[in-house]
Amino acid sequence: MTSIPRFNVSSRYTRTKEDSDDSRNIRDINRADSSRTAGSNGAAASADSTGSDNSRVQLGFANLPDQMHRKAVKKGFNFTLMVVGESGLGKSTLINSLFQQDLYKDRELGSVTERINKTTEIEKRYIELDEKGVKLRLTVVDTPGFNDCINCQECWRPIEDYIDNTFEQYFKDECGLNRKNIIDHRVHCCLYFISPYGHGLRPIDVEFMRRLHGKVNIVPIIAKSDTLTSTEVRELKERVMGDLERHKIQIYRMPETDSDDDEETRVQESEIRACIPFAAIGSNCVVESGETGRRVRGRQYPWGVVEVENPRHCDFTKLRIFLLGTHMQDLKDITKEVHYENYRAKYITERMTKRKGPREEMETRKSKNTSDAQFEALVDTEGLLKEKEDEIRRMQQLLQHLQSNKSSQGGSADGSGPPTSSAAAAVTSANSAGGAAAVSTTATSSGGPTGNSSGGAAGTAVGGAGATNGQEAA
Ligand code: GDP
Repeated sequence: MTSIPRFNVSSRYTRTKEDSDDSRNIRDINRADSSRTAGSNGAAASADSTGSDNSRVQLGFANLPDQMHRKAVKKGFNFTLMVVGESGLGKSTLINSLFQQDLYKDRELGSVTERINKTTEIEKRYIELDEKGVKLRLTVVDTPGFNDCINCQECWRPIEDYIDNTFEQYFKDECGLNRKNIIDHRVHCCLYFISPYGHGLRPIDVEFMRRLHGKVNIVPIIAKSDTLTSTEVRELKERVMGDLERHKIQIYRMPETDSDDDEETRVQESEIRACIPFAAIGSNCVVESGETGRRVRGRQYPWGVVEVENPRHCDFTKLRIFLLGTHMQDLKDITKEVHYENYRAKYITERMTKRKGPREEMETRKSKNTSDAQFEALVDTEGLLKEKEDEIRRMQQLLQHLQSNKSSQGGSADGSGPPTSSAAAAVTSANSAGGAAAVSTTATSSGGPTGNSSGGAAGTAVGGAGATNGQEAA
């Protein structure tokens, strides 16, 4: 069973015993390989003639998973989580509880007057988590102002634009020259907070999810579930699921359990599946549990303590296991393989349509059966080529600019030779800006990712190491 993650302050990846065993295996296999090569055909022939079993020959690729594992651990992992819901539903408290940090200490809450006409904003916060040497760079995208003002008709639009911009940014980076260092800002999961006080979904909830369900993995959360009785929680969950079905909203669906998964994993996954939408409770405090006397993260009321991590009180633990323990990779895969691919196909189609005259457009419509492969080939040769040419032109301009700067400083510039790598890098990062940058971005908290191609995410990373784990009650 997956245990609840506990995070450490960042430490470097260290070489483990398994690593040294792996490298010894690889060395042995390489030695065996070279002696086989030295023996060449004769050796192979003699093996056959002696009737030895060729299927037992060790080629070494059985170590591939270990190689990939080591590489992935060294590189670390990224995950981008978005939180959406009206102000006061407990979003920031839940995020702090999930990651045992104080990510919102710098948050300023505007007055009512300020919020009357406030539109939805996008704010980013970064945390770097480390668990048993595995690093996770987490980006939390907050959306203050959503459903907060008097006229909230289009308050989902900045969020939709932001998600589109991250896809566009990624697409441009993929087509650019510096593909190796792409920073992925795509949103992998959106926790959507549903008010516990209503009777199911509200019109704004339906509108938001209808607009966004094809672009991001939506995971619905029943906020502040300690304000409801167990029966009310169950009824609200049923109503929410019914509303989703009625409005044909596709929230994130967990994949079916694998037949070769062990019994415990299967039970755990079916329990998690059964409790969606997750009934959540958040708390920034550690209090004394009424039941066990232990100090736990919870909410102290005059009549008792609500424990955040007690599965009898809410689904917080299951939510955390789902997000961090069991389904993070699947959320990333769906983002990449479904949402981004959809965006990419639509983007390319639109661009091609724009480039064509009305007559050609008619013909395209007629031959709608053109296979995807042909379509991709067409795009590669036309659209992307033009983009690359533009990029090279910009690079040349920058190079000229650098050279003229150099000569004006008295240095000798002969104007020949290839562009320097720094020039190329500068061009790539210059190209990469924009897109997501259209949205206002605040980056706070510990050591935010920096680097090129950042667009909206560049922001300003402020602050030192994250806050201490589990704060004491004030
Ligand atoms: P946000 O505006 O959505 O980020 O909401 P906050 O996290 O700032 O919480 C708003 C208020 O609700 C604060 O007073 C929190 O202490 C309280 N709160 C947060 N989570 C819960 C919860 O799970 N249950 C209850 N009853 N109150 C909560």
